[in-house]
Amino acid sequence: MSQTPPQTVDLLIEARWVVPVEPHGVVLEHHAVAVHGSYIVGLLPIAEARAAFAPRERVELPEHALIPGLVNSHTHNPMTLLRGLADDLPLMTWLQEHIWPAEAKVMGPEFVRDGVELAVAEMLRGGTTCANENYFFPDAIGATYRKLGFRAVVGLPVIEFPTAWAKTQDEYFERAGEVHDAFLGDALVRTAFAPHAPYTVSDASFERIRVLADQLDIPVHLHTHETAHEVEEEKRKSGLRPFQRLQKLGLVNDRLIAVHMTQLTDGEIAACAEAGVSVVHCPESNLKLASGFCPAEKLRRAGVNVALGTDGCASNNDLDMFGEMRTAALLAKAVAEDAAAFDAAYALRAATLHGARAMGLENEIGSIEEGKQADLAAVRLSDLETQPMFHVASQLVYASGRQQVSDVWIAGKRKLAARELVDMDVPAILAKARAWRERIVSYA
Ligand SMILES: [Zn+2]
Repeated sequence: MSQTPPQTVDLLIEARWVVPVEPHGVVLEHHAVAVHGSYIVGLLPIAEARAAFAPRERVELPEHALIPGLVNSHTHNPMTLLRGLADDLPLMTWLQEHIWPAEAKVMGPEFVRDGVELAVAEMLRGGTTCANENYFFPDAIGATYRKLGFRAVVGLPVIEFPTAWAKTQDEYFERAGEVHDAFLGDALVRTAFAPHAPYTVSDASFERIRVLADQLDIPVHLHTHETAHEVEEEKRKSGLRPFQRLQKLGLVNDRLIAVHMTQLTDGEIAACAEAGVSVVHCPESNLKLASGFCPAEKLRRAGVNVALGTDGCASNNDLDMFGEMRTAALLAKAVAEDAAAFDAAYALRAATLHGARAMGLENEIGSIEEGKQADLAAVRLSDLETQPMFHVASQLVYASGRQQVSDVWIAGKRKLAARELVDMDVPAILAKARAWRERIVSYA
């Protein structure tokens, strides 16, 4: 009788529970994930995995749920250095009197590099393994993610006024092309167009973006329908709602990542579903800035791809996707007046696979499946705060905190081990954050 010899793999992770996200709602008990290189090469019961694989490293997670790494689908991570600079103010006062003046003084490659580094440390400790980034100096941002081994889609900013990044529309597009080319073929860093919002971008720029996004085959990531005021202003200026203007410009399609979307008609929701638009819901930012309520459950029911994001740290004030899942689920129930709305398994799916789909990465990340990248997070569920255990998804979304994330891998590489950041210099990151604090207050 012949027996197949065990296959040598780099890593075997044996977990009490594996929540693969795809198929939806499934929780596997006593399963193992085999990883070779950056890829998941097997997902099977632990006993079978031990017979099938000869791992170079074995990690046992006897009290943990292994989930796909969380995907933060909208963030401005350099702004982590502005966390708590100004709070509890009306949106325009907050922006015009605090955030924009501070940004004008600090904006540059050093600021974005140090902000992203602080953000990556925070995200890893919260189980997040991919960020959809949207900020100036995407060259320095992308280089930082690459250096830190963190997966990101880096936005190529376009806005209709001069900034430290670019002075003219031609310069925004030239620099966008350069940054896109610089990261072509990168294993972890991709690009997307990031026009700021309909109220800050002209029709001419949107038309260029539509053509170039098709040519380069990249997403278009923008804020829109964030507040009722934004919709009213657009109607006053162009006679159209922002979404109608985007439709007219040919941007309502499956490349579009529409962030916020708190003001939507039933017709607009149906149009999003039909066109394959992804909506990124940022519930905590919307609540803190009193922007409005995204109709997340209506979008879900219509079949729209709903993903979750924190938005920047200046309006949240953290990068906690566990908090975002919980808030999204609770808020959706209140808005829909339906306790069955936006259930826990759906919240986890929105925070993983739907984010991956929005960014065009659904074949690579977002679920634990053979052939996908090994972007994984382990959550320790034995703490008294998550006992007793009836339902894993319920504990993950309604009771767990990000401090229960114990281990994280990106593309098969260990980034967090028993809550310790593996390859980051935490004292140096803290020293830089304190130094930026001194610089920022000295300008005030
Ligand atoms: Zn934003």
